[in-house]
Amino acid sequence: MSKINTLRDVYIEQLKDLYSAETQLVKALPKLAKAATSPELARGFEDHLEQTKGHAERLEQIFDKLDEEPTGKKCKAMEGLIKEGAEAIAEKASPAAKDALLIAAAQRVEHYEIAGYGTVKTYANLLGEKEAAKLLEQTLQEEVATDKKLTQAAESINVEAQDQEEAVSHRR
Ligand code: FE
Ligand code: FE
Repeated sequence: MSKINTLRDVYIEQLKDLYSAETQLVKALPKLAKAATSPELARGFEDHLEQTKGHAERLEQIFDKLDEEPTGKKCKAMEGLIKEGAEAIAEKASPAAKDALLIAAAQRVEHYEIAGYGTVKTYANLLGEKEAAKLLEQTLQEEVATDKKLTQAAESINVEAQDQEEAVSHRR
């Protein structure tokens, strides 16, 4: 018999992937906060760090109820997204452009999480896991709200990055 047979097995596999993603993010978000120039952006990353710790805890609660372990799977997609974030951090860029790069990386992360939580929430509902579905929905809403905040931050920061470009071309 294969390891993954039922929807419950798929559900657990996907929850493990998300747990790995969240725990990787708990380590990565402080680095993004440190690299941000805009204090609001830095605070935004710090706030989301606290939320992210909560996301990992919600998943632990769900695993507890399922009598399963959350560990044992590495989310390679999140590993890659975080590597791109590290590239953004290392990039030689003007302060506004650096923030724009950080936001671009962070929004990819949020969209990845939104996709993942949407999927597991659907499974939880199909499996009649009402409590879990509620917890997953709460996290999903926090990811959506974070993505919206990043879009708002990008709107002002990208304008600054554009001004930077104009300042440079004036100097030429
Ligand atoms: Fe999260
Ligand atoms: Fe997130």
